[in-house]
Amino acid sequence: MQQNKLIYIETYGCSANQNNSEILAGLLTSSGFQITNNKEIADTVILNTCIVKNKTENKIKRKIQDQSKTKQLTIITGCMPDTDSKNIKQLNPKALLLGTKHLKSIVKTIQDKESNLPILNNTTKPNKEKEEKILLPKIPLNNLISITQISEGCLSNCTFCKTKLSKGNLHSYTQDNIIKSIKNDLQSGAKEIWLTSQGNGCYGMDRGKRELPELLTKILSLPHRFKLRLGMMNPQHVLPILNELIEIYQNKKMYKFLHIPIQSASNKILRDMKRPYKIEEVNQIIKLFKDSFPNITIATDIITGYPTETKADHQQNLYFITKHKPNILNLSKFSKHKNTQAQSLKELNIETLNKRNSEIMRQHRNTASENKNHFKNQILKVLVNKKTYLGNIYEARDENYNIILIKSQDKSILGKTLQVKIIKLGVHHMIGEII
Ligand code: SF4
Repeated sequence: MQQNKLIYIETYGCSANQNNSEILAGLLTSSGFQITNNKEIADTVILNTCIVKNKTENKIKRKIQDQSKTKQLTIITGCMPDTDSKNIKQLNPKALLLGTKHLKSIVKTIQDKESNLPILNNTTKPNKEKEEKILLPKIPLNNLISITQISEGCLSNCTFCKTKLSKGNLHSYTQDNIIKSIKNDLQSGAKEIWLTSQGNGCYGMDRGKRELPELLTKILSLPHRFKLRLGMMNPQHVLPILNELIEIYQNKKMYKFLHIPIQSASNKILRDMKRPYKIEEVNQIIKLFKDSFPNITIATDIITGYPTETKADHQQNLYFITKHKPNILNLSKFSKHKNTQAQSLKELNIETLNKRNSEIMRQHRNTASENKNHFKNQILKVLVNKKTYLGNIYEARDENYNIILIKSQDKSILGKTLQVKIIKLGVHHMIGEII
């Protein structure tokens, strides 16, 4: 009889981590456990952690500490066990830790704990063995969305990055397994596929070949009706396949959505960060995408206040925002992480950091709103992919992956493609009316 049968999973961070939670839920339910959305009644709480932003990390650490006051079995998964195990153990000595390469051990970890066996896989070593997170049982967070991880790790060594310490070097899953997994999800009703990883552009390079165009072509040739959202690609990996990508994006199944994290618009800072591209190359990429798809959604990531960032470097970030008007900006303030190359650098003072951060965010909000102006009163074709928590409000996406909120009493609109008229504009979403 399993004692820790009722499991609550709390997830932080990127879509790859959301996919990991889906897999944890799948592995556990296949072994007779049950997943609950109610933390209070759970026997076991899994905190699936993220270390990208300090603010989130601190919030998670408080939760880890709070868990030490409960009788629940607490398991910490995600990137934090790989990089911060000592700290977690201080915050909550009873917590069990499962690093990112030990997802498959979740069931055994709980069973060993129940049998009072030593927890052999309470390990956090970012070990050299690979764990393929594809074709494993999973319980989707949203049945309409297939989150498909295509690789793990990356080929870079960015000075600020803690994720690399956890995820390690690039390991691309095979094209066959990815296609099989997507086919399964489409047969189960998925209408949207998200390809995710720490960087999709380098897919296949650990096997010596840039395989992303080939993979995309295979996925797009699947006969089902669906939309494909290609996740983050680092600029140095987009450039060599730029023309192929532009051609592939012509396919109606492709969301016109480009996520290209620049981290800084200053070549000097990019060099300091060990990011191997120039901002002129990013400009070239964005220009070609915008020339080919004028309303494409551009998403980018910037770290503001890198220790060597001068006022002039900051101005270049502002200029980048003004010039390209990214629709989505993931902005983080630089923060030092243990064991990263940037940990010994002297940080900028907090006032400068906050001021620069606010200036960039303000500029982004202005330009992102401007982008939306021409959508007012337009009729758009959208895919309704989510019911929000606001009662009868649904979330839908147009072909440029814009968010359109729709009010409806009709539950059957989920998963359907509809025509909507845009009646109101926000910075990051629009309000539509079904016509
Ligand atoms: S590309 Fe750079 S920022 Fe991204 S995971 Fe790799 S090392 Fe980290």
